[in-house]
Amino acid sequence: MAILFQNAWILTMDDEFRAIRNGWLLVEGRDIVDLGEGEFFGDCDERIDCRGGILIPGFVNTHCHASMIPFRTMGDDCKDRLRRFLFPLENEAMTPQLVYLGAKYGIAESMLAGTTTFVDMYYFEDEVARACLQTGMRGYLGETIIGQPTCDYPEPYGGFELAEQMLEKYKDNDLVHPILAPHGTTTCDEACLRRAHELAVKYDTLMTLHVSEMDYEMKHFADMGTTPLQWMDKIGTVDKHLLAAHCIHVSEEDARIMGERGASVAHCIASNTKAGKGVAPVKALLKDGVPVGLGTDGPSSGNTLNLFDQMRLFANFHKNENRDRSLFPARDIVALATRGGAKALGAENVFGQLKPGMRADIVLISLEEANMFPVYNPYSALVYCANTSNVRLVMTSGVIRVRDGKLVHTDLYALREQLRREMKPFLAAAERYTDII
Ligand SMILES: [Zn+2]
Repeated sequence: MAILFQNAWILTMDDEFRAIRNGWLLVEGRDIVDLGEGEFFGDCDERIDCRGGILIPGFVNTHCHASMIPFRTMGDDCKDRLRRFLFPLENEAMTPQLVYLGAKYGIAESMLAGTTTFVDMYYFEDEVARACLQTGMRGYLGETIIGQPTCDYPEPYGGFELAEQMLEKYKDNDLVHPILAPHGTTTCDEACLRRAHELAVKYDTLMTLHVSEMDYEMKHFADMGTTPLQWMDKIGTVDKHLLAAHCIHVSEEDARIMGERGASVAHCIASNTKAGKGVAPVKALLKDGVPVGLGTDGPSSGNTLNLFDQMRLFANFHKNENRDRSLFPARDIVALATRGGAKALGAENVFGQLKPGMRADIVLISLEEANMFPVYNPYSALVYCANTSNVRLVMTSGVIRVRDGKLVHTDLYALREQLRREMKPFLAAAERYTDII
């Protein structure tokens, strides 16, 4: 099957940031095979007229808990949500079916927003894998490993068993990439992080966890005379396998160590600033050579699962923090949301750019809506003007998943009804917390 995109404004995100104003791009099977300017005169099975719209590599969401859809808008402005009601409610009311439908809904929302790859950490994570395979989402999926009983395992650190099952089950899968997901630096002990890291090395995959995010976490390590990151480094768990989520409070020394070891960061600006936690020092991290990708966090932390929000907030907060309008031009921010994310996942040679040999993970952004006129600079339009309503078409691994702004394989409203029905016991359990939420 060969699919041709024509009449497109192609932003390749390659080393030269090549942009082709009147371009075509040819997909065969799951890969991009060729692209160029003007007319394409070869054969193909389907021609897609992009009507001058912008073609970009799909967005890469480097930190998410998609199945937390049922928690959205619950206790948004409440302090210490994690321990007051998130953990208790998860333990009481999360089921495999709720994780599956939550993931499917979260994936639908993400795809409609132009995301083609996401990193996810949750419970019953194999259900998220099932949702990825059904919908065509590329997922880096980690079963949560944590030092307390959870909804899917009665023993602390029981997640290892489930994680190892996934590591075996999805070896060499094109869409599902199992990773290790110990929860965080204070919710997991040293032995847990060492073991998770060993498995990440053994299976040549990622280890992701929450790092330098919480005030109490920083105090815990400050009392020991160190930082979370330096403690992790001391126990030998900081290297190219590490994808550290948040890193709000990393020091200059932490950033230098991460750069030296090849570790990467999932930066969640919407979630972090909504919680009043602070802004990660991305300028310093990039200066030290740390790959940084953007992440939405879960739908109850950042509330939306789209990277347009992250790009816009990234621009606003970092320019403001540094009192520098010229810092992080729009082109660099689009790069963080696409190729930068792929680099943070160690997959820069697989997706994140539009060039021959790359997976055909492609998004068409329409310029026909009111908010997209005029467009002098397409990167500016993407960062400062665009929203999810401009996403026309989404392809992953050469298959069209969103066409004319609608999911091809899923009826969103039927899915929502299914999820609503499945949420009934969850909503009953949540009533206990009505005074908080
Ligand atoms: Zn998180």
